[in-house]
Amino acid sequence: MADILVQGLTQNNLKHVSFRIPKEKITVFTGVSGSGKSSIVFDTIAAESQRQMNATYPAYVRSRLPKRPKPAVERIDNLTPSVVVDQSPLGGNARSTVGTISGLYSSLRLLFSRIGRPYAGTASCFSFNDPNGMCRTCSGLGKITRVDVEAMIDPEKSWNEGCVRDSLYSPGSWYWKQYARSGLFDLDKPVKEYSREEYNLLLYGSRGDAGAPENPKVTGLYHKYTKTLLNRDISGKSRHTQEKSQSLVAELECTDCHGQRLNEAALSCKISGFSIADMCGMELTQLREVLSRITDRTVGVLVQTLIEGLDRMIEIGLPYLHLNRETPSLSGGEAQRLKLVRYMGSSLTGMTYIFDEPSAGMHPRDVHRMNRLLRKLRDKGNTVLVVEHDRDVISIADHIIDVGPLAGQHGGEIVFEGSFQALLHADTLTGRAMLQSLPVKETPRKPTGSLPVRDACLHNLKHVDVDIPLGIMTVVTGVAGSGKSTLISQVFAKQYESSVVMIDQGPITATNRSTPASYLGFFDEIRKLLARESGKPDSLFSFNSAGACPACGGKGVIVTELAFMDPVVTACEACGGVRYNEEALACTCKGKNIVELLGLTASQALEVFEDAKIRKRLKVMEQVGLSYLTLGQPLSTLSGGERQRIKLAKHLGKKGGVIVMDEPTTGLHPSDIQNLLKLFDMIVSRGNTLVVIEHNLDVMKQADWIIDIGPDGGKNGGEVVFAGTPMEMVRGARTLTADSLRSSCR
Ligand code: ADP
Ligand code: ADP
Ligand code: ZN
Ligand code: ZN
Repeated sequence: MADILVQGLTQNNLKHVSFRIPKEKITVFTGVSGSGKSSIVFDTIAAESQRQMNATYPAYVRSRLPKRPKPAVERIDNLTPSVVVDQSPLGGNARSTVGTISGLYSSLRLLFSRIGRPYAGTASCFSFNDPNGMCRTCSGLGKITRVDVEAMIDPEKSWNEGCVRDSLYSPGSWYWKQYARSGLFDLDKPVKEYSREEYNLLLYGSRGDAGAPENPKVTGLYHKYTKTLLNRDISGKSRHTQEKSQSLVAELECTDCHGQRLNEAALSCKISGFSIADMCGMELTQLREVLSRITDRTVGVLVQTLIEGLDRMIEIGLPYLHLNRETPSLSGGEAQRLKLVRYMGSSLTGMTYIFDEPSAGMHPRDVHRMNRLLRKLRDKGNTVLVVEHDRDVISIADHIIDVGPLAGQHGGEIVFEGSFQALLHADTLTGRAMLQSLPVKETPRKPTGSLPVRDACLHNLKHVDVDIPLGIMTVVTGVAGSGKSTLISQVFAKQYESSVVMIDQGPITATNRSTPASYLGFFDEIRKLLARESGKPDSLFSFNSAGACPACGGKGVIVTELAFMDPVVTACEACGGVRYNEEALACTCKGKNIVELLGLTASQALEVFEDAKIRKRLKVMEQVGLSYLTLGQPLSTLSGGERQRIKLAKHLGKKGGVIVMDEPTTGLHPSDIQNLLKLFDMIVSRGNTLVVIEHNLDVMKQADWIIDIGPDGGKNGGEVVFAGTPMEMVRGARTLTADSLRSSCR
């Protein structure tokens, strides 16, 4: 089996590296974040494999596939087709559930059509995505959405004062005129003084209630918003419309099927006393038990298939899920594990499977289960590539490629290749980190107060009472599915909404032109410096304004619309894609023009700028471990972990707040974690409160306080099983987390 050969790789920060990857083995890529692991694995190997696959298709298929640029590499040989199993959301909508995406729901439908009683029909009668099976009231969604239009009306105001809180309806606007000119309203009367009849007219366009015929002269606001927000797909609309929709649309459980999505006929058909909806509402372990008691020989094979599928999900640490859980509500780690399960069921061999930190979201107890699946995937004749920081995962590698020595331009080299045993003796950051572990904190801080949560019952929480300490760092632990996010990110964060800042790994809601410089607010300072030095106005250094390249209007690309075809996008020739015009590019500060300045990494920029405001923000980038980013790198290219840290950077200056973070060590090398802990110390010493959901044992050991949720996941979780200092946990607690913590102290 010939190795995969990569020669002369210079993609992103890689420094002309060459290496081999053995086939049908597990190869783990390690190294600090920003060292170049993703540039190798995703931007090069996965990208090139897909590109070569695409090239084998006929031209008419090829024209429909996304175009991939060739990675910057001299030569790659012996690639096999690749599949990327990452943490990106599973996508889908309310119709996509754990059951539909895993294929188990269709097997279950088949089972009901065969042995369910009374007989309801063939398998489509059990599909909530099929008119034969769906509840008609909610069209199979299990819930109905309603527009809360009253929230849009300011009762203190009249039409002339703008009683509808929406700029589309401001006095004088086109929409406003439709109502004002109808002659049905007194334009100076505040809404609160309307009679019942007038109010109904405003909302429903009729003198009666919601159901009564509409007044032909005006459409009620309720109908108007229902039409614009509910009865069409708004995902392509402006952010304004989407935000408006979010604040106005309320979801309620369907009153007919009570969230079960199916019609009467489908729901009355049962096996062992359970309907298909009952089964989809069970935790996977319970469902497995119910299915294993079916003795009917005619469906033996089908039942066996279902049980095998369930076992795979249980084995990978998702026993607490149920089949009717909507996929958009799954965490990144859960989504990745579900994808893995899907591929485990496939009979393809000779593939390259690529994983991005599969241990994310996993309790130390569960990591070995996933390791078993990775080995199985290899033993079926596949090549498995894994980007990982977790020692337990790294230890199962057949081959390790360590990228470094540091991040960005200080990285991009291969600093070690070989076995795990050899890595333990390697003089690299990863090699050294494998042998180190932090001590348990001896003298934790004392809280300055606490925020109580009482009788929390959301999802699996069992009437939880807990006090979240103030002024210290609390780590919330527990196996996946135990209820950590439900308790902290949902119940606690919502209850104390006004003082809690959530810093997650989700996309940054800013324009797609945002960069570290603009997001952290020092782009303006850089423009001022350039303006001062050149005697030109600030606006010249903005590509949204006077500085824009005249050919592309500051976009950097030229989009040519072609009839009947996708538009063609090419780099602007006038500015070479840098977006600025010549006048702007001619001005310099410290001998560098705007584009050159934005091309500096934060650490390089610290050697260039003297301005105190700019330096302060650059230092913050350094503190959150992002000094290797350039000032102009689009935020859309950052990884989840990098996004979380740049959000943290934005909040670093604040004092006295409560900061909640969900697994901030995702994507971080052990040596980065030590820096993150220093940063946490600094945040807390400035009078802030930190509440961190974590599986990383070093972070737990350095906490001031630990709140452990368990004892296990799903319905077997939802309780606080321990609250105390890390030392107390190590000495006396009898929980899964305490066991893991103790064994890491040896
Ligand atoms: P790792 O996976 O080890 O965290 P990456 O391969 O993502 O590191 O990044 C290596 C370097 O390349 C970093 O300095 C990163 O900022 C840079 N980089 C990654 N993607 C891009 C991109 N699309 N454009 C420019 N620079 C990038
Ligand atoms: P953790 O954060 O500890 O991994 P979660 O708080 O995400 O655990 O989940 C706790 C329980 O609540 C699990 O049984 C999970 O399936 C359930 N759960 C979480 N989110 C949802 C949701 N949006 N809808 C239904 N059940 C959910
Ligand atoms: Zn319904
Ligand atoms: Zn241009």
